[in-house]
Amino acid sequence: MTLPERPEPKPGIMEIAAYVPGRESAPGVAKVWKLSSNETPLGPSPAALEAIEAARRHLELYPDGSATSLREAIAEVHGLNPANILCSNGSDELLGLLAQTYLGPGDEGIYSEHGFLVYRIQILAAGATPVVAKEKDERADVDAILAAVTGRTKIVFLANPNNPTGTYLPVDEVRRLQAGLPRHVLLVLDAAYAEYVRRNDYEAGIELVSSSNNVVMTRTFSKIYGLAGLRIGWMYAPAHVIDAVNRVRGPFNVNALAIAAGATAIRDRAHVERAVAHNETWREWLTRELGKLGLRVTPSIGNFLLIHFPPEGGKTAEAADSFLTARGYILRRVSSYGFPNALRMTVGLEEANRGVVAALSEFMGA
Ligand code: PMP
Repeated sequence: MTLPERPEPKPGIMEIAAYVPGRESAPGVAKVWKLSSNETPLGPSPAALEAIEAARRHLELYPDGSATSLREAIAEVHGLNPANILCSNGSDELLGLLAQTYLGPGDEGIYSEHGFLVYRIQILAAGATPVVAKEKDERADVDAILAAVTGRTKIVFLANPNNPTGTYLPVDEVRRLQAGLPRHVLLVLDAAYAEYVRRNDYEAGIELVSSSNNVVMTRTFSKIYGLAGLRIGWMYAPAHVIDAVNRVRGPFNVNALAIAAGATAIRDRAHVERAVAHNETWREWLTRELGKLGLRVTPSIGNFLLIHFPPEGGKTAEAADSFLTARGYILRRVSSYGFPNALRMTVGLEEANRGVVAALSEFMGA
């Protein structure tokens, strides 16, 4: 047997297209509005910033490896048992930990056509095979997911609401998905945008975790809580899943500043309410105004919108992106999600929202 001349990554790794984060700057433009990563324009709770000030006095010490105070705060706010909560360095880390824990070579992980890119990356990184289920009307299709299940399926990832479409699967559909899956298949409900779902029926997803043995829900402090820079995620899961993932995760995967800030931010419900209300007002306004320009916008329940461009007359997403970037508005290209002619826009502050609509009005009229 001839051995390679250099270390070679294991099978699957070179099939991964590395995740490209949303851009932050526009060359030659001084004032930019970053609307590319679904961050909240209202920033974090001021109380969380104070908690960071206090926590930074003891950075020579390791953090609590179990993130106890953060798990207790989450449990208190959501009415859960802290023993069923596990925290992470962003929810991205959790998606990877779940894949590492439950998938290996020969196994399959399912996600839907326009699902969050990290699922594919983590399935491949675990040495397993990604399987894509078709969507219907830019929304996850339970029948297609169930039809994709084989004897090798070990995980199904479902973002609800989904990024980048913003579409939402009502709880009855999620229940139907869970009921149709074999009990040994782990259903990962990725609820990164749960707080934006005004009718709160994502709480029913929490019930689904409590009442079954094969469902987990992942959440994040990166969106509504405005703490993306600190990297805090968590999951609510059955005890046996918590136990397995705890064996795999790094010993101090959540840092001390994150623990302090997260535990404080989650208790500031007024801040969350303000963010939800702001988002709703401007998401509706943007949908309406962009529609008036002849742009189709996928009905979104998140803090972002998927804007489709008519390719006629050179009005492509690429051209719109250049036009907006030159004016300081940074949106997200979503070709890698299967939308070559759309841009994803985070709902921003009033000035940014009005600015994007004015710029796109000029672009469409030009
Ligand atoms: N899931 C979905 C659907 C997302 O859009 C994101 C953020 N892009 C994440 C998970 C990961 O968020 P974080 O790692 O910041 O918690």
